[in-house]
Amino acid sequence: MHRRIIAPGALAAASLMLAIPASAASYSPGAPGIGDPYYPAYGNGGYDVSHYDLRLQYQPTTDELAGTATILAKTTQDLSRFNLDFLLDVSEVRVNGAAATFATSGQHELEITPKTPLPKGTPITVVVRYSGVPSTKSAYGFTTWHRTPDGAVAADEPESAWWWFPSNDHPSDKATYDVSVAVPNGTQAISNGTLQSTSSQLGWTRYNWRQNKPQATYLATLALGRFDITTSTSDGGVPVINAYSKDLGDNDGAARASVERTGEIVDWLSGYFGPYPFSTAGGYVPNTTTGYALETQTRVYYSQRQFANGANTSVVVHELAHQWYGDDVSLKGWKDIWINEGFARYAQWLWSEHEGEGTAQQLADYVYASHPADDAFWTIAPGDPGPEDQFELPVYDRGALAIQALRNEIGDDAFFAVLKGWPKEHAYGNASVADFRAYAEQVSGKSLSALFDTWLFQPTKPAAPAARSASITKAGVAPVQPKSWKKIAATNDVH
Ligand SMILES: [Zn+2]
Repeated sequence: MHRRIIAPGALAAASLMLAIPASAASYSPGAPGIGDPYYPAYGNGGYDVSHYDLRLQYQPTTDELAGTATILAKTTQDLSRFNLDFLLDVSEVRVNGAAATFATSGQHELEITPKTPLPKGTPITVVVRYSGVPSTKSAYGFTTWHRTPDGAVAADEPESAWWWFPSNDHPSDKATYDVSVAVPNGTQAISNGTLQSTSSQLGWTRYNWRQNKPQATYLATLALGRFDITTSTSDGGVPVINAYSKDLGDNDGAARASVERTGEIVDWLSGYFGPYPFSTAGGYVPNTTTGYALETQTRVYYSQRQFANGANTSVVVHELAHQWYGDDVSLKGWKDIWINEGFARYAQWLWSEHEGEGTAQQLADYVYASHPADDAFWTIAPGDPGPEDQFELPVYDRGALAIQALRNEIGDDAFFAVLKGWPKEHAYGNASVADFRAYAEQVSGKSLSALFDTWLFQPTKPAAPAARSASITKAGVAPVQPKSWKKIAATNDVH
């Protein structure tokens, strides 16, 4: 489908405008993708976003979302045209105050042609007015906008923004956010960061949320529904805001018994990863039935299914570990997913040890012994798993096993220095697996190319490290399953 909206008579005006000086010959359209080999159409070229201001209104009974996005960005090339990634219906676009023409193309591209071309290095303000029913929109045959009986949730990976705001949808272009959403009185709107204020008029309540640290687009979240919002402060001084659907039924107790421990777990993780990087922490549990949780920045998305068997602090540890590994330091490209998932899973192992339920080494031994050499588990290389397998079990479990191998190779002092130093080294930025290896080599003073290649990049089961082989293969008996294993296995559907 290719839809071009252009006012009658505007064509003539537009062609006059196109009588550009000869110096404009260097102006060209920004690329329709940012250049990620896993997802070639995701993100866009030609500009860099610094801030999203979203002023929205949502009606839960009809799933209608309407409003205005104001995007602050800077051009990175001489730009004649540029794209945003978006699915809802656009009625108006302005660039630096002037009406722009626009069209849709591809699966999720909004092509914007400004009235005059934009030189490289120009600050731009893009205003997009839009509306639509997100649940009726799809790209590549799917939707990640999740309707609930009382509203909806936007929380998915690697894509969820297309259904609720226009963006440069790739983690390498991080920005700050103001998200202001009006909902009917009695409904709550939950998003990232700090709740700056609420106000009510004409039967609607507006929630104003602010994320004042850089945030990847897939980590922006929006939940609309009937929520009970709780607030507290951790011993370490981190403000915590959690929200629970009022309709969790039998799962309500277990959800609160897990998520209300956010402050305690943030403080505990700070001991390994350094100071908590954001202004608030927290999570929300809407009335969804999806099978995963997601590390949406400062406000983790949990499915109530995570709590169907009782309290599950392990999933809370996983998603909060991502606040450092994934959110503060974000991946450069989606192939770098190991830095997110390997370390979030390893944090679960450290928590297991903390809870007296099995040490990280025991869990590593168990994973190693659980998968024989001919198991397909070993054919997925966590260091570059491919887009089809990037959220498969090996990225998590083999990924954490690689981290234990690194720990055993460089020793605890260097290992824990790396663990804590990495978020500081790339604070609020982006980094790759190669960057991580270089950093671990710098801190430890050891060449780690063989270790990384064996544990992260080869599609085969690594030989057991000599120091560990006795305990792993002794009498051919697998290590005893640590008590926590079932609990961790039950959370394999985390993101
Ligand atoms: Zn994860």
